[in-house]
Amino acid sequence: MAIKECPSCAVEVDKKYNVCPICGYEFPKQKSGMKYLAIILVILFSLPLIKLILSLLNK
Ligand SMILES: [Zn+2]
Repeated sequence: MAIKECPSCAVEVDKKYNVCPICGYEFPKQKSGMKYLAIILVILFSLPLIKLILSLLNK
């Protein structure tokens, strides 16, 4: 059901396409990769904080 609009020809295409089937525009893929990297960084930074909070609660 997920669709995205091609910025080149303004046609709505399925999100699974990496290239627009109408005009051949290549959709940038970097954004989703950056999102995963951000999530991983947030998890890595929050784990010590969670451990700290848990140790404070256990006292
Ligand atoms: Zn297009």
